[in-house]
Amino acid sequence: MELDELYQDLILDHFKHPRHRQELSDGEVLVDEENPTCGDHIRLTARVENGRIQDVRYDGKGCAISTASASMMAERLIGMPVAEARKLIGEFIGLIRGEKESAPADFGDLAALEGVKQYPMRVKCATMAWHAAEKALGKLGV
Ligand code: ZN
Repeated sequence: MELDELYQDLILDHFKHPRHRQELSDGEVLVDEENPTCGDHIRLTARVENGRIQDVRYDGKGCAISTASASMMAERLIGMPVAEARKLIGEFIGLIRGEKESAPADFGDLAALEGVKQYPMRVKCATMAWHAAEKALGKLGV
């Protein structure tokens, strides 16, 4: 199997079975983020205890890239210390925007989304959930 195929399978799998996606009540929504150029929409909530992200959940709708990106993000951020999460968010957004040469070695599955940087119209699809998470951490004051 070619690496590209493997990555496509990974993105499709997260798109078809998004992890940690769940209908949120209006009261628990911390951030509401849209990407009008594509029609992607995400509402996100997070919980932090003792400097560590205990939970990330979201709902909304979006294309395969935005859905897979949100799913992979939630999977990765849950359990992570806030400082580490903020660093990862910055690195991911930088990579997708093409500001970084290549994915760090510890990026794991997230590297599957690196190819998006070649498609400027899709960059926001991949980064939307990550911006939402960053804002959520800000709102939580952590
Ligand atoms: Zn999109």
